[in-house]
Amino acid sequence: MRVYNTMTRKKDEFVPVNAGKINMYACGPTVYNYFHIGNARPFLFFDVVRRYFTYLGYDVTYVQNITDIDDKIIEQANQEGSSFEDIAKRYTQAFFDDLKLLNINPADYNPKATEYIQQMIELIDILVKKGNAYEANGDVYFAVESIPTYGKLSGKNLEDLQAGARVEANTQKKNPADFTLWKKAKEGEPKWDSPWGEGRPGWHTECVVMSRKMLGQTFDIHGGGVDLVFPHHENELAQAYALDGRPLANYWMHNGFLNIDGNKMSKSLNNFFTTRDIMKKYDPEVIRFFFLSKHYRSPIDFNEDIIIESKKALANFYSVFKEVDILNLELDSIDKSAFISTVEAFKEAMDDDFNTAKALASLFDLAKEAKAKKNSIEVRQAAAVTLLELGKVLGFFSNLEKTLETSVDQHAEKLIELLISYRLDAKKEKNYALSDKIRKDLLELGIELQDTPQGTIWKIKD
Ligand code: AMP
Ligand code: ZN
Repeated sequence: MRVYNTMTRKKDEFVPVNAGKINMYACGPTVYNYFHIGNARPFLFFDVVRRYFTYLGYDVTYVQNITDIDDKIIEQANQEGSSFEDIAKRYTQAFFDDLKLLNINPADYNPKATEYIQQMIELIDILVKKGNAYEANGDVYFAVESIPTYGKLSGKNLEDLQAGARVEANTQKKNPADFTLWKKAKEGEPKWDSPWGEGRPGWHTECVVMSRKMLGQTFDIHGGGVDLVFPHHENELAQAYALDGRPLANYWMHNGFLNIDGNKMSKSLNNFFTTRDIMKKYDPEVIRFFFLSKHYRSPIDFNEDIIIESKKALANFYSVFKEVDILNLELDSIDKSAFISTVEAFKEAMDDDFNTAKALASLFDLAKEAKAKKNSIEVRQAAAVTLLELGKVLGFFSNLEKTLETSVDQHAEKLIELLISYRLDAKKEKNYALSDKIRKDLLELGIELQDTPQGTIWKIKD
């Protein structure tokens, strides 16, 4: 198996620290709002990484932190006139609720930053005593020059970083590129006692403490979106090196951005859609398909046309299951040997740095075989059952019975599309009585229409 490693900038052969065991950590959400559909990409991708390793027979321990203290949380609390704890609690719950809808299994451990403040203080204290960090007026900074390898993960050199950081002109710092480990409390902010006075730890310390605590000094995979490479992961790594000269993780994996009109979707640019809102419009399984149809490192445009294509592809899979009446098959008794080579192709794609796009292509092959009239019913059933098993590895088909009950076959789908086109004609002729009637009558049949800039879409009413 080969995994692209941001540290080496190439696909490395994957060798876990302990045979048969995988320890992985992915940075989790800062809980001050609902997460947007860009944030959903790493959450969903690392869920697939974990699922695939589990499928291969590894014992996986997956840790994902919750950042429950941060400037943005405090800001949100001030805006709403509530406490930072209330904000964090509300959006932590929303995070888990949304993961569940997306069929993303929660991590084995979800440590919260506020539960590890004492350990963070201890870590910072060690770094100060070792000479890797220094205090200045109640703040504590990490001295980047104390680590010869600083910048290695992100491929940045110290001179450039110094020049870049000088703009900020923080005179307290010995080197402009030094980063904060402990922040002195400002008036009215949540604070904790420390050897340097009241304050709170910085974000970069949070993840080092919690990952090492739960997964050991060097674990296998550390992941997140590509925006975390610098400064967050570089700074985590620097602290780990300073502590014991060992890398924090052996493989650093980063997903590409979800873009919108060519820009990264982000809360600060205010160009985002919450995953929650998108899930009102599209089935979460369609969103999963949308993401996995691209390689995780490639940027992906939030493009509703592709989402609609994803919906069609999934509908095709479900029609396969319907045709072979999969719910009434004795799955274990099906001889799937005819499709061993497809399973191999699937694995080959996933073993090549989790190429889910290619893995999905092997599922299309299965769907084709399952529908080919030239094949015997046994072969078609075997193809369908193999499709089901491999699809589950990617997190699809988790609710087969319910989805099949509510899914429509392709003829019905074409009829719905036809009615939508008649409704559009009626609207063009200003025959609103008729267009409204079409919408209302479909709704009575449990089919809900929604007009979007991309045209009218439909979904089965919840
Ligand atoms: P945050 O809550 O901002 O720390 O982000 C949580 C996760 O989402 C991190 O792994 C980020 O790297 C990732 N992320 C943020 N924006 C995007 C985006 N537009 N596309 C893909 N990943 C993103
Ligand atoms: Zn982190």
